[in-house]
Amino acid sequence: MNDILIVGAGFTGSVLAERISSKLNKKLLLIDRRDHVGGNSFDYYNDNGVLIHKYGPHYFRTNSDKVFQYLSQFTKWRHVEYRVRTSVDGNLYPIPINRDTINQFFKIHLKNEQQTKEYLNSIRVEIEKPKNSEEIVISKVGKEIYEKFFKNYTFKQWNLYPKDLDPEVCARIPIRINTDDRYFTDEIQAMPVDGYHSLFNRMLKNPKITVKLNTDFKEIKNLDDFKLIIFTGCIDEFFNFKFGRLPYRSLRFEIENHQQEFYQNWSQINYPNDFDYTRIVEIKHVTGQKIPNTTIVKEYPEAEGDPFYPIPRKQNHEIYKKYEDEAKSLKKIIFVGRLAQYKYLNMDQVVANSLELFEKILLKKEILGKGS
Ligand SMILES: Cc1cc2nc3c(=O)[nH]c(=O)nc-3n(C[C@H](O)[C@H](O)[C@H](O)COP(=O)(O)OP(=O)(O)OC[C@H]3O[C@@H](n4cnc5c(N)ncnc54)[C@H](O)[C@@H]3O)c2cc1C
Repeated sequence: MNDILIVGAGFTGSVLAERISSKLNKKLLLIDRRDHVGGNSFDYYNDNGVLIHKYGPHYFRTNSDKVFQYLSQFTKWRHVEYRVRTSVDGNLYPIPINRDTINQFFKIHLKNEQQTKEYLNSIRVEIEKPKNSEEIVISKVGKEIYEKFFKNYTFKQWNLYPKDLDPEVCARIPIRINTDDRYFTDEIQAMPVDGYHSLFNRMLKNPKITVKLNTDFKEIKNLDDFKLIIFTGCIDEFFNFKFGRLPYRSLRFEIENHQQEFYQNWSQINYPNDFDYTRIVEIKHVTGQKIPNTTIVKEYPEAEGDPFYPIPRKQNHEIYKKYEDEAKSLKKIIFVGRLAQYKYLNMDQVVANSLELFEKILLKKEILGKGS
């Protein structure tokens, strides 16, 4: 008998499974409809012998010591800084945009942060309260950079131009006046030494956790037997889409094996204006695997398929709110994770959220008080 059912074996469900089984000594059932644990962070060795990320590149980074220490119980790390380039008119530029990008693009020679600030002030368009993503970008870097670096990439990614997206979508992308060309600035940037799949296997090895793969929540018939259900799947699907669908953008991955050590010089090159794919990822650059062949993945954004990116628009937030309110009335079920919260969350954020949920709520719940 399991007291607890956890739906979804991504970071959210797996961290909770690990905490509940080890700290509360409780038996639980963890199910996933996919044929593997790890959720979207899953990686595997392909036929070419290359460790690749099945659902797009997962660059682990965090500013939280707590999250890092917690995960370090299950893996050693390879510290690495992620560096990405974007291809515009046949030239490769550092991305996020920094002083070198600006110098290279405008063929100028800004020498320091002050000069760069002044230059950006001279090209940006004054917009008092940017209402959408186009306005936010133009108000920071002007029209030329917007057209070449942002407009078409955003359209490929979302099938919407920046003017139709909330300002936050593009506001998240930093503009740097220094020459830092790291993709992220988090203090801790690292990859699990032997892959995410090994990390998950160690996290879930407690015999109190029963993992059932290829199992959809709909197939679980004895729901009344569980004292608690933690649901990390899509919240609209749980409620049979009664308030309408929460839309997502998906991706199709085209995998190419190459019998050469590296295909490109960077782990990721973005293509805002050319081709139907948005980027070519060669994850081997950051996993540090040393073998003579390599694999690259081209990403094609699509409307249908696995739910990857919630589409951040006002009308979608309104639909989500209805589901969220309905969910609050179900006392025995907790909705948590990126799909249940209809929110783009990084891995470290969902780990932090799960640890907090465990410490602040589950530890205090009476039903979880004694072991089974
Ligand atoms: C393309 C892409 C790239 C990303 N890159 C990064 C990155 O570089 N760095 C970073 O920190 N984060 C990245 N992320 C975010 C990262 O994937 C998430 O933070 C993480 O996956 C969230 O974990 P989760 O457990 O909430 O959700 P998921 O990993 O999605 O896990 C949910 C699981 O629930 C299962 N499930 C859903 N419904 C059901 C059901 N009805 N029955 C049974 N099982 C079900 C699913 O199969 C899935 O395995 C990226 C995301 C995407 C889409």
